[in-house]
Amino acid sequence: MRILLVEDETKMRDFLKQGLEEQRYAVDTAEDGDDGLHWALNFPFDVIVLDVMLPRKNGLEVCRELRNQRILTPILMLTARDAIDDRVAGLDCGADDYLVKPFAFRELLARLRALARRGSSQKSTRLIVGDLVLDTLTHTAYRADNPIELTAKEYALLEFLMLHPNQVLSRTIIADHLWNYDYAPDSNVVDVYIRFLRKKIDDAYEEKYIRTLRGTGYQLVDPHCD
Ligand code: CA
Repeated sequence: MRILLVEDETKMRDFLKQGLEEQRYAVDTAEDGDDGLHWALNFPFDVIVLDVMLPRKNGLEVCRELRNQRILTPILMLTARDAIDDRVAGLDCGADDYLVKPFAFRELLARLRALARRGSSQKSTRLIVGDLVLDTLTHTAYRADNPIELTAKEYALLEFLMLHPNQVLSRTIIADHLWNYDYAPDSNVVDVYIRFLRKKIDDAYEEKYIRTLRGTGYQLVDPHCD
């Protein structure tokens, strides 16, 4: 999952970026409202974390402009303590949720998980497709109750596929959601990670979850929804 973090305070931005990357998110950052708007309009994100107090354009203006331009990516606003007006205004201008500073990092993570599930049929912290289970809290996967060890990128790939079951996902879409701008790989790298993942979740089983659509991309098939 790829997150855009718009925060002008350097210390806070660096702390959050590092923490989120440790949790296997791909993170791009912006330091002011104009920059944040540019990123959000031009790259695909799964969630946008948007501070309200920003130079050049505040978070409320950024949020409103994104919604006006039909960018519907979930937005989590960071507001100052006691600024009730900001929270109300944030929700009114189209934000999905808000968090009051200072906040516990694990609360931010919980909100992000909830926002990422929004629009997906998955409603708990365990993503389930057939006998494939991914625990988004512990980052462990199971197939038919057998635990599967995943590397950080394999986890991110499986999570993305499981959040979009039965959808055809092109290599470019997958790459765009798994890597940030600085590390964007050639989309062939996606094939490599799909191969790693298949080895772990499909090879030993008769029923295969990952389907290749030649020339198009990949699909995680839910056998019970086909
Ligand atoms: Ca700020």
